[in-house]
Amino acid sequence: MVILIRYGEIHLKGLNRPQFERRLKDNIKIVLKEFKGINIKRINGRFILFGFDENYIDDISEKLKNVFGIHSFSIALETDKDYENVKKESLRMFWDAVNKAGAKTFKVAAKRSDKSYKFDTMELIRELGGYLFENTNGISVDVKNPDITLNVEIREMAYIYTDIILCRGGLPVGCNGKAALLLSGGIDSPVSGYMTMKRGVLIECIHFYSFPYTGELAKQKVIDLCKILSGFGGGIRLHIVPFTEIQKEIFEKCPNSELTIIMRRFMMKIADRIAAANECSALITGESIGQVASQTLESLNCTNTVTNLPVIRPVICFDKQEIIEIAKDIDTFETSILPYEDCCTVFTPKRPVTHPNLERIVNSEQVLDTETLIKSAVENTEMIVVKG
Ligand code: ATP
Ligand code: MG
Repeated sequence: MVILIRYGEIHLKGLNRPQFERRLKDNIKIVLKEFKGINIKRINGRFILFGFDENYIDDISEKLKNVFGIHSFSIALETDKDYENVKKESLRMFWDAVNKAGAKTFKVAAKRSDKSYKFDTMELIRELGGYLFENTNGISVDVKNPDITLNVEIREMAYIYTDIILCRGGLPVGCNGKAALLLSGGIDSPVSGYMTMKRGVLIECIHFYSFPYTGELAKQKVIDLCKILSGFGGGIRLHIVPFTEIQKEIFEKCPNSELTIIMRRFMMKIADRIAAANECSALITGESIGQVASQTLESLNCTNTVTNLPVIRPVICFDKQEIIEIAKDIDTFETSILPYEDCCTVFTPKRPVTHPNLERIVNSEQVLDTETLIKSAVENTEMIVVKG
């Protein structure tokens, strides 16, 4: 058995194709690294995965489905393209599928990149269809709506399969630059990370950590979220920024109603620094218009002005329910709703401003030694490499 991987060549326009393929191959290897012996070869516009222990084929398929850049794949028999072999292996695969699916009807589909093959595509379909029909009792041909389609591809070798498993599409993570994701422990920011990764962007995660107000479990939750995200295309680096000092200073010295907005501005300033040090060309957040006081348009304006980087907000116009649906689909939801405190919930103002005035906020910040606070937080940031 091998796995035949298709990666949507149509979408390759304008992208550097060798780079795209190299990335995808590396990402597949990283995501599947726990399965010993796996190897990948490329044959005209497809990858063939081979060398794995077939007992793990279901686990491998589950992981492969998530890797961005893969359009679909099939679990296939690879055989010499001598027609006698093709016949024999096709019948074997056919019977397996019939027994599994309890099929009553079938058709044959064929592709041929080897133009010197003794049959052209139509002839091959006819020959093989006839052979299978003769060797099966009670199973008839239905070209419109068959229970089973037996596919044969004649390339350097012949590939025979019945199922095409559709994947998430997107672009291989890392082929479209790098951005820093402000990752809380909530529902929205992991979804934003996922959506940006889908466009081929490698993410570097930043978490603001308020020890001892938030504990080891809250930190572990963020590491677990990074692990899930890494399943879409390789390892992720997580920067854990000590945030308690900054929050205490803001809490003691600034107007209570402005706590959240000033805190969010600090997060963006620190993220901007970490992004610069790690070659990230954008920031990503899980903000959504009007979801909370710190996400009104006026609030977004106040937090946006502290950075010159583009801020990607993939869920900005999504309802919470829409975000939750994606979180469930990508398997972050159950982790996100674990009840550990987030740094924002520890220092929550009693009556937060919903329409902050930028000048007033900047003025309120004057009492803080912003540069020293930021420098110390960045210097004491811990970096963890998270692998799936
Ligand atoms: P989420 O579900 O992503 O936590 P939220 O609805 O709780 O979002 P806020 O707490 O206002 O919203 O945070 C808005 C955004 O700010 C988050 O989506 C995230 O990008 C960033 N953020 C908030 N808290 C943190 C944190 N502790 N560490 C890193 N980023 C954070
Ligand atoms: Mg949050």
